Amino acid sequence: MISKSTIDKVYDASRVEEVISDFIQLKKSGSNFKGLSPFSKEKTPSFMVSPAKQIWKDFSSGKGGNSVAFLMEHEQFSYPEAIRFLAKKYNIEIEETYKTEKEKEKLSFLESLYLVVQNAKENFKNNLWERDEGKAIAMTYLRERGFENEVINLFDIGYSLNEKSHFSDQALKKGYSKKYLELIGLSINKDNTYIDRFRSRLMFPIKNFSGRVIGFGGRILNNNLKTAKYINSPESDIYHKSKVLYGLYESKKEIVKKDLCIIVEGYTDVIQMHQSGIKNVVASSGTSLSNDQIRLVQRLTSNIIVLFDGDDAGLNASLRGLVTILKNGMNVRVCQLPHGEDPDSFLKSNSKEKTLDYFNNFSKDFIQFKADILSKKSKNDPVKKSQTIFEIVEIISIIPDQIKQQVYIQNCSKIMDISEDILFNTLAQINSKNLTVKNKKNSYEKDKMRVINKSELTDKIDHVYELEFQIIKILLLYGNKDESFVETILKNHDGEELIEEKVELNVKVFEKIFLDLQQDEIELAQESFRNLFKILIKHYQSGESIDLNNLIKKLPPDLSSIVSDILMKDELYKLHGWNKKNIFIKDKESNVSQLVVETILSLRKYLIDKKINELQVSIENSSENNKEVLSDVISYSQLKKVVSRKLNRVI
Ligand code: ATP
Ligand code: MN
Repeated sequence: MISKSTIDKVYDASRVEEVISDFIQLKKSGSNFKGLSPFSKEKTPSFMVSPAKQIWKDFSSGKGGNSVAFLMEHEQFSYPEAIRFLAKKYNIEIEETYKTEKEKEKLSFLESLYLVVQNAKENFKNNLWERDEGKAIAMTYLRERGFENEVINLFDIGYSLNEKSHFSDQALKKGYSKKYLELIGLSINKDNTYIDRFRSRLMFPIKNFSGRVIGFGGRILNNNLKTAKYINSPESDIYHKSKVLYGLYESKKEIVKKDLCIIVEGYTDVIQMHQSGIKNVVASSGTSLSNDQIRLVQRLTSNIIVLFDGDDAGLNASLRGLVTILKNGMNVRVCQLPHGEDPDSFLKSNSKEKTLDYFNNFSKDFIQFKADILSKKSKNDPVKKSQTIFEIVEIISIIPDQIKQQVYIQNCSKIMDISEDILFNTLAQINSKNLTVKNKKNSYEKDKMRVINKSELTDKIDHVYELEFQIIKILLLYGNKDESFVETILKNHDGEELIEEKVELNVKVFEKIFLDLQQDEIELAQESFRNLFKILIKHYQSGESIDLNNLIKKLPPDLSSIVSDILMKDELYKLHGWNKKNIFIKDKESNVSQLVVETILSLRKYLIDKKINELQVSIENSSENNKEVLSDVISYSQLKKVVSRKLNRVI
């Protein structure tokens, strides 16, 4: 691990404008810099860098943050990779910390495994390019399939000789240990002689996210039906099949650029597509997609097209993969190739443009796709049809984003020719069933699962997010401002009537927000907002001595992205003089205390609504006596009235 003090030094030394100008041409524009967005094609610059605040914002893609966030976005670096890059740029020596001896040992153990595999890759490449057997058999085969040097090199393709122990012998001679060769699965111990696992096969190195080789897929070259077409490295401490995607390392930049990841089945499909210029592609290697694999893609884009070979076999397993994609909140389209084709063969008879057209024209929404498959089976059979609809709604119910759910329901309604209301009811039914199961688990889960209905969907879900964002925005822009607030204190007379009493308070904005939320025991739901909230409050509480800009510079990349979103939009208004033209914005700025009160009250109102809704659901789903819950509902409703009344007064 990189030590905390090294990370601090790196943050202190780096200047966002210097880091970015290594990649993008920046021009001075007022106190800021401007450039063309590297994340989209554009002619007028919308990429802004603020040296004063040490942040950047790309208005065409919405991305932004500090220097580290830029490197993570632009170069697809991991956090430590970005820190190492900056350390190198600014000549800062990296101090590593290991927590324990054990960790140190583990690290050098893994390092040894990487080295063994690295050597194997070199050896296989050497066989392909330099040795007669490799040139005659493997290279000829690659040429016959139409693969050119560029992709052969990019994917580090190699060849394992048709000898019993050529690889193992050379590795042992070079000093690699038997133990590691066996652990990584490149050699097999047979009565204490070490023989090669891969023989006479085309070797496809499998790389992790940062490009280190962790295993191999080996393809047979003759049509020997006795052995499997492909054999793969076994699972090891560095290779976990379900946690890698073939081609991700080579494709990650383009995936970000195109904001789309194409998923195919085979190694050769990835390679052929790259050669044709379609470079945002990865292979699942014949297995159903796992959560870990989807999360790898999610770091780069939330849009996926899954290509299926043109045969029906395996389609069902792949449907499981689709469910995994949806569960992770990604947008997915599905495209089946013509009968008998895979992407590799398709590209040989079609140009890149034609192929992309095909993907566009024949890719379907997953609902359409699933509906097509299922309705073939259930044509003219009402019982089967309703079962099909239920299955589709069941899948819709696992999509985390409720706005998206609504769109899918509308879609499904059209395709299956059934009313939206019925579908919404079915969805609510499924959700509430999930809820009763989850009920017994923990209250956090309960918060996430709740019955929804249509009207609620359109007017509420996003509001909580927006309001939390607004709170962060206020804290950032006006946190330290002194404002006066009119507080109404509620007094409970004889346990019946609620009487209001007014007092005027002069406090700092952050104090008002902090105390109000604390009083209601409200924690922001969005994790990054919650973290940022804590950091900002702590910052303000410690006094004004610390520079806010300095704090922002050192924020973790995800948080810095939120901050730059807020601050740079503010900057943009100033740049265009919008604040002068637009009364609304000016109005808000001059009335911070109203903004604060309005935001907090609205948030309270939505949270109370949510609570009431949950209680109602739990009443509907339980057969027991609900007296207590009912009285809770009543008191929450009363509270809601009070909050709504106050809200009407401030707006
Ligand atoms: P080619 O075009 O060279 O025949 P392919 O990539 O099209 O290869 P498919 O038969 O479509 O191969 O299989 C898709 C993927 O499934 C392969 O790339 C490989 O990752 C995996 N695979 C296929 N057969 C096996 C096997 N026997 N063992 C393990 N993995 C396999
Ligand atoms: Mn193929």
